[in-house]
Formats: sequence, C-alpha cells, structure tokens
Amino acid sequence: MNVTFFGDLAVEFEKSVKETKESNIAIIIASAKVNQHEGVICLNNYPATRFYINPHHHSVKKLHERMLDPAYCVKPEEHVPETTPPLFSVEDIKNLTKDFIERKVRCQITVKRVDEKSNWYDNVCTTCGYEVTIVEGRYRCVVCSRNVPFPDKRFRLGTLCNDATGLIAIVFPDDEIQRITGKNAFDIEEELADEKIFPPVLKDFEKKEYVITLIIGERNVSKISNIYNATDIADPVEVLGNHSPAEAEDVKLTDDIPPMETPCTKTAPKGSPTTAASTNKVRSRDKKTDISYALEDNVPIGKCKIPKTDKRSRVHAFVPYNLADQFEAIIEIGNLYLLTNFTVKEYTTDDKFRCLRKHVQIVFNEETQLDILHENVVNVENCCFDFFEISELHTLSKQNTYLTDVVGIMEDHEPIRKIKNRNDVIQSQFVFNITDGSSSVRVTFWDDFAKHLADSLKQATDFPVILIIGCARVTTWGEQVVVTNVGATNFYINCNHRSVVELRKLLLEKKITSKSLSTENRSAVQFYKLESIPRLGPDHVERQIFCKVKITNFQENKIWFKTVCTSCYATTVKLNSEDTCQGCQRVVQYPDKQFQLVAMAFDDTGYILIIMEDREVKKLVGKSVFQIGEEGTKDEEFPPILNNILGKVYTLKIRINSENVLKKSNYYLVTDIMEGLYLEGNQQQ
Ligand SMILES: [Zn+2]
Ligand SMILES: [Zn+2]
Repeated sequence: MNVTFFGDLAVEFEKSVKETKESNIAIIIASAKVNQHEGVICLNNYPATRFYINPHHHSVKKLHERMLDPAYCVKPEEHVPETTPPLFSVEDIKNLTKDFIERKVRCQITVKRVDEKSNWYDNVCTTCGYEVTIVEGRYRCVVCSRNVPFPDKRFRLGTLCNDATGLIAIVFPDDEIQRITGKNAFDIEEELADEKIFPPVLKDFEKKEYVITLIIGERNVSKISNIYNATDIADPVEVLGNHSPAEAEDVKLTDDIPPMETPCTKTAPKGSPTTAASTNKVRSRDKKTDISYALEDNVPIGKCKIPKTDKRSRVHAFVPYNLADQFEAIIEIGNLYLLTNFTVKEYTTDDKFRCLRKHVQIVFNEETQLDILHENVVNVENCCFDFFEISELHTLSKQNTYLTDVVGIMEDHEPIRKIKNRNDVIQSQFVFNITDGSSSVRVTFWDDFAKHLADSLKQATDFPVILIIGCARVTTWGEQVVVTNVGATNFYINCNHRSVVELRKLLLEKKITSKSLSTENRSAVQFYKLESIPRLGPDHVERQIFCKVKITNFQENKIWFKTVCTSCYATTVKLNSEDTCQGCQRVVQYPDKQFQLVAMAFDDTGYILIIMEDREVKKLVGKSVFQIGEEGTKDEEFPPILNNILGKVYTLKIRINSENVLKKSNYYLVTDIMEGLYLEGNQQQ
C-alpha cells in the first residue's frame, strides 16, 4: 500500500532508511492516518505518527520469516529488460517453429520491391484504431459500431525483401515509416499532385538495406501467411556497425526469379470490388481493387490486415486540485513534455465526462515531474480529434460517461445574449447551429466559455466559420439534441486540422450549401464612405463594415469608462453611492472598469459618432482603465493619454445594429480599430 509522509517526519524517515544496514527493511508505522487519495487507500502522518525501522518486535520477526516463504510471499514482477532479438536469415525465419509465436526476430535484408498495387494507407477508426469499412458511402467502424467522419490514415506498405537465402514479404509499420520519412500519411497525400500516383517517398525504400525486426505471428509459423509484420526498421550500419556489404552483393537482383520463388502473381479479382456509393465522403481510390497483387499463397497483400499500433494515440491526464496551480504554470498547449512518476488509474463507473474512450487515465501526484522537451523528438500532431458524425450525436445524448468531438460549419446566428435562469441568476448564453452539410445540431454555450467564443469569433477571417468543439457534452433539451460545454470543453476556430480543410473545400466546391449559411464572404473587406453609412438598409443589420476615418475629438470628455458587474458584465449603476447591478440585484463591491469613449470620426464625405469599447481603446493606448488609475488619474479626470488617440487616421470595423437602421441612431459600435490604412478592398460608394 502507498505510504506518503510529509514534513519533518518524511525527512527523518528518509535519513533513517539510508542509515539502515540491513537489506530487508520492515517498518512499523504507529498512529498513522488512513486516508483515501484518488480512490486509493494510503497512510499519512499526523503529529502523533511514529515509525520504527526493523524494531525488535515479534511482528517484525514473523514478517521477515514469512517473506522467505514462497507460499506466502508474492515477488513483485521483475522488470525484464528487452533483449535484442536474434538475427536470422530469411530462410531460417520461414522455418521458425511455434516457440517463436509472438516473439521478435531480426533479419538483414534489401528491399527489392515496394507493393504499388495496393492502397498505401488504411483508413482507421479514430477511437479504436481498427480499419474502417465503407457502409452506404460512409466510413464506419464495426468495432465501435459508429460512423467515423474523418478517419485517421495509417500507412500500409507491403514490401518484397530478400537476403542471400531467399525472398520474404514484409509489411512496414506505420510509426517507423513516419519516423524515417518524417511524414504521416496525410502529409504525403497532400503532397501528391495526382492521387493515382504512388508516393515517391515510399518508393524510396526500394534497393536499400535494412535490419528489420519482425514479430512472428501464428499464421506465419503455421504457413497460412507468408507476410511478416515488422516492428522496427533500422539502418544496418547504425545497428550492426561492422557491417560488410559483400554478402548482400551476391544476391542477384533480377526479375527472373524461378517459378517456385515467384512471390507475386497478377490474379483476376477474387471478389467484387468494394461497392460503395460514390459520395463526397469516399475517395475513388478506396474502390480501386480491380487488380489484386497476390503473394504465393494467394493472400493478396492488399487484403492483409495491418496490425494496429498503440502508438500515436491520446490519453487523458488528470491533475488533482491541490497540484493544479503548480502544473498550470508549467503547461503550455502545444509544447512537448517528458512526464515521469505519474499514476495510471483505471476509470471507474463513477468517472463521468471522460475526454477519451479509453480504459485508463494518467493521474498526477506529488512526485510527478513534467519537463519540457525543446526538440521535437517524436512526431506529435498539434491537434488530434475523435469526431462523431452530427447525424449520430443523438446516440450520445443519453449518456454522460463520454465527451465528444464535433466539427461543423457555423450557421447564421444571433449574437451572445444574457438570460435570467430559473434561479434568477443572469447567465451569458450563446446559441447557434453547426452543420456538416447533411445534418445540423444546436450548440448552446454558457457564461465565460460563451463569452470567450464570442470574443474569439471577432478575430475570425474566413467565413462561414468552421468550428471544432473538443470534448463537448452532448445532451438533450426537450426532444432536441444539444451540444454544450463542460469544464474540459474547448473550441478551435478555422483551425488547420484536415477536417476543417476538407469541409472548406466542400464549401468552395459548393458541395455543401444551406440557406442558413452566409453565401457571401463576409470577410471580404468592404469599405464604405461615411455619408453612405446612415443609408444602409435592414439587410446590413448585424453586418460588419469597414471605413477609413480621422478621429478628431471626443464627444464627451468627462466619462471615459464604465463600471461593469463582475457576474454578468452589465453596466452597474450607483445606488446609495454603491455600484449596483440591477440584473443581478446585488452590490458589486469591486466592479470591473472598461473603457467607453464616444468620438467623432470624419472622412471627406461626412462624419459619424463612434463608440469605442474596452478592447479597442486598450489596443490604442496599451493600458487598461486600472493601469491608468494606478498611474494617478482619478476616475473623474479625463486621462491625457487618451488624447493621443485624436488627430490620427484609422481603419475601423463597425457593426451595424438595428438601432442604426431602424431608429437612425448615429452612434456606431466599433468592433475593431487599426491605426493607418488597411488594404483597400471593394469600395462601396
Ligand atoms: Zn472503432
Ligand atoms: Zn450582474
């Protein structure tokens, strides 16, 4: 059982153990506190706790005796270091007996030919890693019984290799191909101009010599299959050092292999080609099985099952509350770390909202160390998801064991709003739909997370926005399936994940259309002259436009900030000289202070009044309201630093609201500001 001592007792204990001469240490811990930590029982010290090392006590004597009794004592499993597998010739490998099943052997071979007739990758399930099949034109994992909208791609590289003693068919493992080429299957697919071409980088394995570690399968020994799976691929020079090429050169690398040795024959297709309805989800390449390239025992290598690897996968790590501050300071998303001394814990049925569909998670403890690695020693993708299809989300809405990753195109939506919930608490709520072209789902985000998304969307440049929601909770509201946020949920706006690239491509090719998607590219910079802005019609409500102005003066130079409620962000009012939020009906003791300036903006056609809020003013003066206050400016004084804004030329982004259009309000809200002139787009006169 786990014992954790703290403080002086821990120091004293460590010292005593070091001073002990005996190799077998028995310890009596008296008056320990029995605790539960992360669901595991452990002992801790209290002020009354004492320890005794190998004391003269009958219990200790008995314990020492019993430890020698094999019937009583279970030796902890010894860690056997992996020995280097034996090096065999190809001929020997083909004659291995069943003692070698599941064991590793090595061989030194030359890659004679790479199999170009089969697909060079498999589409695999993002949850379980097994190959997906095509059902009704969609990728489906039969193991997980669900659709996999964006399957992973894993290399499948069949090779024909030889040494002086014979020929052998070897399937190269995905992770080793990645390590050697420095690319994954997606990278290579992207580089290929024509999907019918076999990737040259994979062809580069040909005519080269390697020391390959194979794992011998039962099917190999029983001669059902003569295709061997490799686990490691190494350069002979770096492995064997004293390598002499003389032996290898004796091999005649001609194509005139005697019939008995002929490894590959072209055969007519055995079954009908995979029949998959052609949709935009499935590439034509997946159906290319008209010629199968078979090996001597008629196992077409194209049909050979590639073993799944547990490399390149994800695991959830949990940092307990008491350690959160310590680790939060170190962890930065996107960095690579070496993690040591952690606990691996199986999930229990009580563990809800799991980020991943795995049996175990990593739990940090007091001993856990996290060291940043500056060199990218392993090829880790920046972001990794396990997407579910939007049409299948309803199957997840009745459970709360797992969280879910979804990707979709944001449909037109209302801005974030504040609502009063049934407990009379004001909450921020952001409601919108996302679609993948065939189905759409309601998304409802709450409070800070909703605000964070709404703020981040202001920076988006590609429209419609393609949003990835990682670790979302799928639930129902009435009969409707709703995607919502919990603590672990995060979002990615127009990120460069392949799913986003693919959706964007389908949008451009007009394969996804929906009347609720903005057909117009709202990011196109549309500049307006000021005189035309008051004439904009209702179709411009909630639209953002650009204009180039000179800011000449502030309309009001007394009030330059507003106080807002720390719960609901509404502007507070003074009641009995106390800042009060009318929405929350409470005194806000330390309200937030945010800039709010009204200024006159001119161009050569006229002027408008603009409202600049906190983010925009901070951007211009580089200070917050609080910082200006700390520098000695009193709340009722107008800070001179703000006058620096005046007299300059700016490019403004303005959001037209319904007041502007319907009530002809002349106050326009600035949503972004930049000093100088932004590149000119279509000028609207
Ligand atoms: Zn699966
Ligand atoms: Zn409030």
